[in-house]
Amino acid sequence: MFYFFNFYFGAIVGSFIYVCVLRLPKNEDIVFKKSYCEKCNQEIKWFYNIPLFSFLILRGKSNCCQKKIDASYFVVELIAGILFLINFILFNTYQIMVLNILFFILLLIIIIDYKDRIIFDIFSYSLILIGLIVNYFFPLINPFNITAIDSFITMLVSSGLFGLLKFIYKKLKDIDGLGGGDIILIAGLTTWTGFRFFLYLLILSSIIGIFYYLIFNKNKDENFEIPFGSSLGLSFIILLYFSELLH
Ligand SMILES: [Zn+2]
Repeated sequence: MFYFFNFYFGAIVGSFIYVCVLRLPKNEDIVFKKSYCEKCNQEIKWFYNIPLFSFLILRGKSNCCQKKIDASYFVVELIAGILFLINFILFNTYQIMVLNILFFILLLIIIIDYKDRIIFDIFSYSLILIGLIVNYFFPLINPFNITAIDSFITMLVSSGLFGLLKFIYKKLKDIDGLGGGDIILIAGLTTWTGFRFFLYLLILSSIIGIFYYLIFNKNKDENFEIPFGSSLGLSFIILLYFSELLH
């Protein structure tokens, strides 16, 4: 029962995440504006708006205009549900509360960067703030098991390094290889990982980025942009579970 409860709580959060993903880049209200159909703008009744179930019962078609509902809605709810379930299985109560908030922010970063190639700095700053507080006052909550000093120094070193790379790249090629968003994001993530896993994070996210490039840029488009924020976020989640399972 608790397993289902945690899974479904994740799905509900996932549903909200997807609303944010659709509306934040368009500057729309995420709290007070009612749910509406992406296709015909009709308001969606609450009983057609139940995470996971509505999509299954309606067989992927909207009730208002019978158009296909974007399956990514369902996928995001499912993924968020699964991640919250894994958190429930792996961690203690205090960790679950903090990590679910962390994952909420991470999923927003990953999906929005993937969809629109935007990283909102406010999310990265939240990662830094919560990370510093957790590592200083409640170090046992962080699965990466690091000291507050490690957290603080790695945050400075990683963002400094990314800033330097950006600067060099700009000098050499006169284009922005790294967005400013990446610099604050790496600071936010390494506040949690500490130095050792910062290196793993770089390696893993580069591998994911290269695979993404090879798979999705078959025509060798020069302006092709890898969603680097997404691969950083994804690598972070993989490493977080990995480090928890290691000790
Ligand atoms: Zn509709």
